[in-house]
Amino acid sequence: MAFASRLSCGPLGRLLKFIIHRDTVLLHQVRRKRSIYLVPIGTETGSGSPEGRLRVAKYDVAIIGSGPGGYVAAIRAGELGLKTIVVEKDPFLGGTCLHVGCIPTKVLLHHADVYDHFKNGEELGFEVSGLKINWPNILARKDKIVKKHAKGIEFLFKKNKVEWVQGWGRYEGPGRVSVEKDGKKTQIDAANILLVSGSEARALPGIEPDHKTILTNRSILELPEIPKTLVVVGAGAVGVEFASIYNSFGSQVTILEALPRVVPVEDEEISVELDKTFRKKDINIFTQAMVNSVKKDAKGVTVTFKDKDGKSQTLQAEKLLLAVGRKPMTDNCGLEKSKAKVERGAVQVGPYMETAEKGLYAIGDIVFGLPLLAHAAMMEGISAVTHIAGKPGPPIVKERIPNATYCEPQIGSIGLTEKQARDAGHAVKTGKFPFVGNSKATILGNHGGFIKVVSDEKYGEVLGIHIIGPLATEILAEAAAVLHLEGTVDDMMNMMHAHPTVWEGMGDAFASVRGLQINV
Ligand SMILES: Cc1cc2nc3c(=O)[nH]c(=O)nc-3n(C[C@H](O)[C@H](O)[C@H](O)COP(=O)(O)OP(=O)(O)OC[C@H]3O[C@@H](n4cnc5c(N)ncnc54)[C@H](O)[C@@H]3O)c2cc1C
Repeated sequence: MAFASRLSCGPLGRLLKFIIHRDTVLLHQVRRKRSIYLVPIGTETGSGSPEGRLRVAKYDVAIIGSGPGGYVAAIRAGELGLKTIVVEKDPFLGGTCLHVGCIPTKVLLHHADVYDHFKNGEELGFEVSGLKINWPNILARKDKIVKKHAKGIEFLFKKNKVEWVQGWGRYEGPGRVSVEKDGKKTQIDAANILLVSGSEARALPGIEPDHKTILTNRSILELPEIPKTLVVVGAGAVGVEFASIYNSFGSQVTILEALPRVVPVEDEEISVELDKTFRKKDINIFTQAMVNSVKKDAKGVTVTFKDKDGKSQTLQAEKLLLAVGRKPMTDNCGLEKSKAKVERGAVQVGPYMETAEKGLYAIGDIVFGLPLLAHAAMMEGISAVTHIAGKPGPPIVKERIPNATYCEPQIGSIGLTEKQARDAGHAVKTGKFPFVGNSKATILGNHGGFIKVVSDEKYGEVLGIHIIGPLATEILAEAAAVLHLEGTVDDMMNMMHAHPTVWEGMGDAFASVRGLQINV
């Protein structure tokens, strides 16, 4: 007792108390997976060291990839006080979405929309003459917007004390990431690692893009001129957006789709409406079309395909865009050094995006079974780092991920399609409101399309909402909120919608499930 009390008061005791206190705090922090992570020195696996000394990991979170999944996770991690570093192979931040995906395509779609307005000037009471497309200026504006936002991410990183380093990032085992640049390798110690390496365009067997005539989503953004003729292989979101852009700018566009309908993941009625509207705009569409060969020649390409009746057809075009899906970029990322389960290149995750390897998370386009969308990647990143910070992260519910396709007419959808709802055993009740009854849509000169509500008959639970028409990707906001908050048809038809707006069409669509729509 006397010895113990002497020990606790003397200098040795104070030192011991300090060590015990320090280790208790550190261990507490380890448990909460925050701030400091103890890795035994001198071992590959971090499972012990001869000296029993402990190394303090430099970072709470290391993130490989700075696309929307990576940069949003990094910023939120910084906000939550986690020491964070991002590894990016490119000399700029932002990934596919900012540089060759969401943003540049939406710039071109906006320009196409403005051009369409000028072309229809007469209907709006304007006399427009001498209208010309200045393609280099349009491309320059696109690049300016992309650069501005890439700088914006750098600014946000600084603001939130997020560091970033250029190089190829690779998982090297628990708590370790290597960064390779110009043949030199460095190492980062981090308690938690997020792999957010994104995806790249798929090719068709035997049809390799040369990026001059056979294009991908990257090379089509750099075309020096608008092609007179364009074949788009694939009628998913990427295919129909580019078809829409170049149709507006005057290209003769043909779509070849292997499945029976365009935008095949959407509700069937949406596909029918888009097909009808595209054909009216003079876009040729072949569904159930199997491409056999693409041959390059002096004029461009000759495409041979089997049509839905099994007949062989040939098309010639200046350019061909391959828009046949994306594949996850997980090669050479070190996943083989982990217990993470990889299926056809995509990584399986559990709750909060953690893989089967503790402390290793997968986010965004590389995740198995979740849609390849920027906003999905963003929320997945937020979910992971919030969990790492010891707080309840938002769960990722596949049925609550909105889809937005920005072709003209736009498509916005969320939740179950009518068929999915029926297949899942719901007693389905649908409602539909055509934009032709919406005054704001008429003012905009754009009143094609409709809003379709899929609900469960018993309590009016909203299961899915499918919109095609003006501002569909904007009014989708209400649809996402309803599903997120588990609202019913009755909640929503009794909510006041501002007039005159395109948005108020939502009120009519919900009411139409009960047969109580006003404007049609
Ligand atoms: C033409 C087109 C249009 C699209 N439009 C939309 C849209 O309107 N809305 C929408 O929601 N989605 C859209 N998408 C999809 C969206 O771009 C992706 O879902 C999103 O970019 C995925 O984000 P991510 O962070 O997972 O990956 P990415 O954005 O692909 O970013 C991955 C990053 O990781 C880096 N990287 C890869 N490997 C390594 C490594 N080993 N070391 C270091 N860095 C590495 C890459 O350089 C890249 O910067 C579009 C896609 C395309 C192709």
